[in-house]
Amino acid sequence: MQVQYIIVGQGIAGTLFSYHCWRQGISFVMIDQERRARKASTVAGAVLNPVNVNKWSLVNDYDYYISHALASYKGLEETLNIPLVETMPLLVFHQEEAKKQLFEKQLTACPQYIRPADATEHIVVKRYFKDVTDIANVSPVYKIHASVLLSSWAGFLKDKGLLIEKYFDIHACKIEENGVYYETIQAEKIIFCEGAEAIHNPLFHKIPFNQNRGDALLISIPGLSTQYIYQGNVRLVPIEKDLFWCGGNHQWQFDNLLPDEVWRRQTESALRQWLTIPFKVEDHLVGQRPTTAGQFFVVGTHPLWPMVAILNGLGTKGFLWGPALSLELLQRLDHPQSTPIKNNIRLERLLS
Ligand SMILES: Cc1cc2nc3c(=O)[nH]c(=O)nc-3n(C[C@H](O)[C@H](O)[C@H](O)COP(=O)(O)OP(=O)(O)OC[C@H]3O[C@@H](n4cnc5c(N)ncnc54)[C@H](O)[C@@H]3O)c2cc1C
Repeated sequence: MQVQYIIVGQGIAGTLFSYHCWRQGISFVMIDQERRARKASTVAGAVLNPVNVNKWSLVNDYDYYISHALASYKGLEETLNIPLVETMPLLVFHQEEAKKQLFEKQLTACPQYIRPADATEHIVVKRYFKDVTDIANVSPVYKIHASVLLSSWAGFLKDKGLLIEKYFDIHACKIEENGVYYETIQAEKIIFCEGAEAIHNPLFHKIPFNQNRGDALLISIPGLSTQYIYQGNVRLVPIEKDLFWCGGNHQWQFDNLLPDEVWRRQTESALRQWLTIPFKVEDHLVGQRPTTAGQFFVVGTHPLWPMVAILNGLGTKGFLWGPALSLELLQRLDHPQSTPIKNNIRLERLLS
């Protein structure tokens, strides 16, 4: 098989990169297999939110990233003929006085996206939550149907013979000046979209990848309105009728990816204190966010091997950053002299 690109990893990064290739008529083959952990992209809440609700500040370059994100996800909706993006307000409960005061102080920082909840929203929320005092409304916020997107795109690629569901063994890959050779595949370039697994990739061992695991619960809450995302000490994101994603935590020190039972019990207890209605935990998910010390993304061509590229370090914002970054990477591969990728660290400095 002869292709322009081998893409390793079909999380949200590989999905978006391959989508842009497909749109531009660039030939590729995707190699993906979940091994040590579930892909982060199917554990994520997959919410695109303009505001950092802890500081009530605007997410950096939000307008740039969201415009690319909406264009890409809408394009994928049309290609796959399924709904993937939902717009819904995020209702933030001020559970501490200090947070409420910060919100009021910051109202002018991003007035287009935040306001106090109105009377109707208060009435709705008081039916389902205890001790509601003040709530903020953040909108528009977008929810991506991540698992549907990833499985549908995998099906799309499989139908076209473009997906190999196998572990990619870097030690069996030959990288030469005129291209990349792997089993029976000959390619011009290889693009690594391996998520947290990149920490084991010898080509990128100088990049200071960090470990960052996150747990999430899938919870059925019959009766709770699915028109909103709710944020208290935990976040509840509607998935489908009665089913909500609930999460998540950040753990930087760990030696396994087993469900964190302590976090789960704490979360269940917080939910019992918060909700007026019963709930049931259906599943406990664990994933590793691909992060770097300094929390920068890693996108570009390897300075020593121009036929090797990476799209990684998407951290907590893979669904927001992924669309713009994957397109920027594709443009850079086509035109290496074009403008450097926005806000990227210099791979040259780290890898030379
Ligand atoms: C609890 C939690 C909540 C989150 N919430 C949000 C959110 O609300 N919004 C947001 O934007 N982001 C969120 N994120 C972050 C988001 O999930 C990540 O930024 C994103 O999923 C990273 O995508 P990725 O494609 O880089 O990695 P992954 O999704 O992990 O995909 C990597 C893929 O590569 C495959 N792979 C790796 N190595 C190999 C190999 N050698 N051979 C074959 N296959 C290989 C893996 O098996 C996997 O399928 C959250 C993450 C977590 C854990």
